[in-house]
Amino acid sequence: MISGPSGTGKGAICAGLLEYVNVAVSISMTTRAPRENEVNGKSYYFINREKFEEGIEKGGFFEYAEIYGEYYGTPKKPVLEQLKKGVDVILEIDVKGAMQVREQAPDAVLIFVMPPSPEELRRRIEGRGTETPERIARRLERADSEIAQVGKYNYCVVNGKLSKAVKDIRMIMRSEWHFSADFEEARYFMPSVTRAIHRAGALRVAGDWEKIIERYNAGKLK
Ligand code: 5GP
Repeated sequence: MISGPSGTGKGAICAGLLEYVNVAVSISMTTRAPRENEVNGKSYYFINREKFEEGIEKGGFFEYAEIYGEYYGTPKKPVLEQLKKGVDVILEIDVKGAMQVREQAPDAVLIFVMPPSPEELRRRIEGRGTETPERIARRLERADSEIAQVGKYNYCVVNGKLSKAVKDIRMIMRSEWHFSADFEEARYFMPSVTRAIHRAGALRVAGDWEKIIERYNAGKLK
């Protein structure tokens, strides 16, 4: 699962991860209106509230959340089908949704994507040119409350440079396969994997999260 404030570049990261084999990105359903460059069935499935609520009633969602007054949810069926085929499925969802999924799938890996600084986040959200000033303000406010929850995640990846963030996440995925393999194998791989994560620059969050937030606010995250 990949979370992070809107404007951190999660969409671009997911597109980068799709270049690898055996990786799929779950396409969420939402009731929000499509942005100019968004295609139905690619960025999201855009549906109305009635249809969404029907899906909730039928138990068709892995998780869902109401964000900025709109529904967002992960349809269950396609995710389960891909997992059965041995494909790694990436869910790009908000913190609340990620916590719901973790309850159902405790071995899921949680990655939080951070922008390098609050200034850079504002620049990216404003630079999109698709949001009204009111919506920009709402997104920035929500960003702070999401960032405050980075401690609930297994890893934190800073998206300063897109290609590096994609590589970091790929490294995490590889190492997690080894950790989830049987113990003998895990023991064999562990030292090199730990080194690899260190090299990748992805931070294991446990215990470090207050420092991460401090460095973010000071504009010193790299
Ligand atoms: P945006 O409107 O910028 O595309 O997305 C707004 C927020 O909704 C982001 O934080 C994004 O991660 C989250 N989001 C997108 N799809 C889902 C989903 O299926 N479930 C949940 N819980 N959040 C989602």
